Amino acid sequence: MTKKSAKFREEFLAQLKETNPNQPEFHQAVGEVLCSVTDWYLDQTDMRKNAVLERFTEPDRSIKFRVAWEDDDGQIQVNRGWRVQFNQTIGPYKGGLRFAPSVNESVFKFLGFEQTLKNSLTRLPMGGAKGGADFSPKGKSRREVGRFCQSFMQELYRHIGTDIDIPAGDIGVGAREISILFGHYLKLTNKWTGVLTGKGCDFGGSAGRTEATGYGCIYFLCHMLEEANCEIADKRIAISGAGNVALHAASKAIELDAKVISLSDSSGTLHIKDGLDHEMLDKIEEWKTTKRESLADFKTGKGVKFLSDEKPWSLECDIALPCATQNELEEKDAKKLVEQKVMMVCEGANMPLTADAQQVLRDADIPHAPGKASNAGGVAVSGLEQSQNAQRLRWDADMVDKRLREIMKTIHADCVENSPKRKIIDYRDGANLTGFRRVADAMNAFWHS
Ligand code: GLU
Repeated sequence: MTKKSAKFREEFLAQLKETNPNQPEFHQAVGEVLCSVTDWYLDQTDMRKNAVLERFTEPDRSIKFRVAWEDDDGQIQVNRGWRVQFNQTIGPYKGGLRFAPSVNESVFKFLGFEQTLKNSLTRLPMGGAKGGADFSPKGKSRREVGRFCQSFMQELYRHIGTDIDIPAGDIGVGAREISILFGHYLKLTNKWTGVLTGKGCDFGGSAGRTEATGYGCIYFLCHMLEEANCEIADKRIAISGAGNVALHAASKAIELDAKVISLSDSSGTLHIKDGLDHEMLDKIEEWKTTKRESLADFKTGKGVKFLSDEKPWSLECDIALPCATQNELEEKDAKKLVEQKVMMVCEGANMPLTADAQQVLRDADIPHAPGKASNAGGVAVSGLEQSQNAQRLRWDADMVDKRLREIMKTIHADCVENSPKRKIIDYRDGANLTGFRRVADAMNAFWHS
């Protein structure tokens, strides 16, 4: 970045912090993108006149609402719901719903901002949004989750639609929640439209949607490896998380003969020294997704160790795949990875590396793919689900997988093409520039609408 750009970035961020106080995740996401796009943006006189960057960093609207629901004791509980409709320039709003106690407006704004860039990278006509609630499904009965979802949809339904906003799942919102939300939308509107994605295959869902984020992440990783003249077979991969993304990334990696040496959750890390096999992965999947139990209580077999309260980043590995949540991999973790000579880091979650952790990898010339590129497979297949719903058709799993592979390949190629010429491919700058320019060009063409 030039001196002039650095000054512009600093002043822009100071202004953003002043107008959006107490939103550290949002500041972090915008700050990262500015590192990549400012040099280019400062040369765009017309865009600057039309305040494209100022418009780009202000959501179209944030909707915040009360969600009251009855628990199993007959007590009414009150939670808060959000939908941040961030940017509708290149298509209807699209992005997941997250149910977790830790969410707030900052988290949804950062996620909506990232989603706008991610969706642009897929080249599908999708704008960016994110939403959810500060509700924890953990420890809740099925009936409680059901009542919560219905109450949540009771408000959300008036803000969404196939040409307006199409939500999907994210942390805490899986097939079970999407089914209830979709069923209630039908009840409220009497309209069968593909208003949510991630639906069951028998009621409009796409083949391969559940697997798409994890598989897409591994397809992207394979392109990164190819770019470095390597291949995935026999590589030791440390994965964090044990949700949908982590489990399907692990499954595809095992299929391609990699050694998956870890999975984790908030209780700690499961270390599988010689690598997971499909049999054990299936047991873990059942434990986590059907039984919804913690890894700490998972009965491990030979060669498997549970590291209580630890993250996977001190394990010896060739590749790190953070697939849990934002800012899970900190500076000290990145240093450990560098010490162990990790070859590359490929994000399965959204913004799992802190800014300091990213800097450690950059200083050590370790390629690092940002989630907006490497985890775009999920939303890409959501886009394909929308196409199928619009056509009133169902594509088979092979066709969806073929399209997913093509999309991940194109995203990788776009990142490489737009990466500044450094010793290694700069995936951060490549992804940010590609995603930003596409939306910024359209916003500029709209003048200031
Ligand atoms: N929540 C996922 C993401 O972060 C998927 C969103 C979607 O399918 O709309 O991209």
